[in-house]
Amino acid sequence: MARQRRELAGKVVAITGAAGGIGAATAGALSRAGAKVALGDLDEDGAARAAQDLYGPTLVRRLDVTDRGSLVEFLDATEAELGPLDVLINNAGIAPAADFASQDPAMIERTLDINLLGPLLGTQLAVQRMLPRGRGHVVNVASLAGKSGPPGLVAYAASKHGVVGLTEAIRSELWGQGLDFTVVMPGPVQTQMMDGTHEVKAVKLIPPSEVAAAILEALRTGRPEVYVPRSLGTLARNGLLLSPSVRIRLNRVLGVHKIYTDVDDAARERYERQMAQEAGMRAPGDA
Ligand code: NAD
Repeated sequence: MARQRRELAGKVVAITGAAGGIGAATAGALSRAGAKVALGDLDEDGAARAAQDLYGPTLVRRLDVTDRGSLVEFLDATEAELGPLDVLINNAGIAPAADFASQDPAMIERTLDINLLGPLLGTQLAVQRMLPRGRGHVVNVASLAGKSGPPGLVAYAASKHGVVGLTEAIRSELWGQGLDFTVVMPGPVQTQMMDGTHEVKAVKLIPPSEVAAAILEALRTGRPEVYVPRSLGTLARNGLLLSPSVRIRLNRVLGVHKIYTDVDDAARERYERQMAQEAGMRAPGDA
């Protein structure tokens, strides 16, 4: 018998990193489906702009996912203003492109703090609220890089493998207690994260709206693992059957290895500078 699809109207959904890209697109799609959406981001003004397009009750807060207290405040405010939390979407993330051997250690730490510690803290806080109610859904936005190893993104890949692992482990730990855990693994998406990256014929950038639609579908079905586009799942699973050296050679033949190693520095500068500033570091190229 087919599983019943879940209704999203009236659900309370908190999204981290909701000022732009995938987070803002997901907030928009959820609000069109009738959900009450809380948008959290370091960029509070950006989150407020994203919220202008939403319908129904919404909440906007400045949020730093690396700070447990900030996450607690965000979830407390969400529950006080919108109601008990039904869904947390751990989406905030950064992707600094760098040669790992010379990458600033502070940026390695920052990547792990935002991309891995953030979802770990967020998942724990959500679970503490959802377990007594016996229901709730945590969606962790990882990446195809959580199942593969793109050069130029060593720290990012490490963080995203961690997100895949944490989601699988918590699902297993709390199995049968009424909670759902979904990990989302998109390929390259048309957001600022891809600014200045090398274009490759074999790789088509997908719009953030496609990832948002896949997240909504997972919320309706409880699907545990979501690749976007779906065909990437077959590719990832088959790729893992190949030996590492064959995988690397294949990516080189297709040019995929250049996406993050042959970037247009001028086109990427704004994004890299913003990440460095938020981390309190000097931007690449600064004296
Ligand atoms: P984006 O840069 O448009 O959005 C990320 C958001 O996170 C930004 O609004 C940023 O301000 C926010 N953020 C950064 N640090 C934060 C912090 N400490 N606390 C709170 N918010 C913070 O990028 P996006 O492409 O929409 O990325 C969203 C998620 O999707 C990320 O986890 C990313 O790794 C993942 N993803 C992106 C792609 C891609 O190609 N764009 C592919 C796969 C997965």
